[in-house]
Amino acid sequence: MPTLPAMTTNHIQRRAPAVEVRDLRKSYGAVEAVKGVSFEVAPGEVFCLLGPNGAGKTTTVEILEGYRTRTGGDALVLGMDPAHGERELRERVGIVLQQCGVQADLTVAELIEMYGRYHVRSRPVDEVIELVELTEKRDVRARQLSGGQRRRLDLALALVGEPDLIFLDEPTTGFDPAARRQAWSTIRSLCDLGKTVFLTTHYMDEAQHLASRVAVMNAGQIIAIGRPDELAGRDVRPAEIRFTLPAGWSLGDLPAVPSRSRSLDGDRVLVLTTEPVLAAHRITSWALERQIELGHFSVSQPTLEDIYLELTGSSAPNQVPEEVAR
Ligand code: ATP
Repeated sequence: MPTLPAMTTNHIQRRAPAVEVRDLRKSYGAVEAVKGVSFEVAPGEVFCLLGPNGAGKTTTVEILEGYRTRTGGDALVLGMDPAHGERELRERVGIVLQQCGVQADLTVAELIEMYGRYHVRSRPVDEVIELVELTEKRDVRARQLSGGQRRRLDLALALVGEPDLIFLDEPTTGFDPAARRQAWSTIRSLCDLGKTVFLTTHYMDEAQHLASRVAVMNAGQIIAIGRPDELAGRDVRPAEIRFTLPAGWSLGDLPAVPSRSRSLDGDRVLVLTTEPVLAAHRITSWALERQIELGHFSVSQPTLEDIYLELTGSSAPNQVPEEVAR
């Protein structure tokens, strides 16, 4: 059994984490896929693992699901070591893989009922169907469902055993925008039921909408972890003020504003500022006084995607020169 002395002490002071990982390592021969990863997931949270292809996400998740063995470090899922494959753990964890095969000639209700019988405790079939919003498809055969409806059936099959923790692997890949919104609302309702959700996704808006915390993995390591709004100092990053200038006006004509930088690309101005209210006020007042039309005026904070791309080295940071004016 692994020894986790500090974690054990914490258990006495607060509710035990749903997932605890410390210095987790996994090598495939010479390939070090996971290089000493540590994090905790609190009960009831939606924890999201993000990262580019090959970052080590699947390896990490599958170690937690008990499908792969680790090379080093400690892992506890609902207080149990997933490597031991205990029945109690399998009962309390629901797993929704990207693709799972079901008997496609059975109906939605029949499949959920069948899966329910595999579990010691199970949620009533119609309650599960309602939860995943498949009521109208209750008596339809699995093979007749659309891709999005199939994914919701997969979720239903993972939920029927009343798991405390659910692993969702890219739950909305291939969904149309409306189906994604619907899936998000289902996932949120899982949290209302007190479930813990461990999510992997490639969609930043999904992480932004659903996650209480995100961890960004790259090359086998966690390079940032936190609330989506605060990740890597996102909340204190400069805001971006954008607008277009009409012909005849240049950057030098703009008023002095507190800014990190300002740049002009064609007729498009970008001002980076940590004081967006004051800067926007000065720029708009200046324009109004002169009756200048500023096109497409917007003020925005960096998105989670901006931060993610910066962290994973997929985009160069903004190179405009620094300039401060008050
Ligand atoms: P993706 O987003 O593409 O699914 P990932 O973040 O899930 O990527 P992993 O699948 O965990 O990444 O892979 C991490 C590294 O481990 C990669 O370099 C991959 O080639 C390697 N790897 C994964 N599984 C195996 C395996 N069974 N045998 C050998 N190498 C593997």
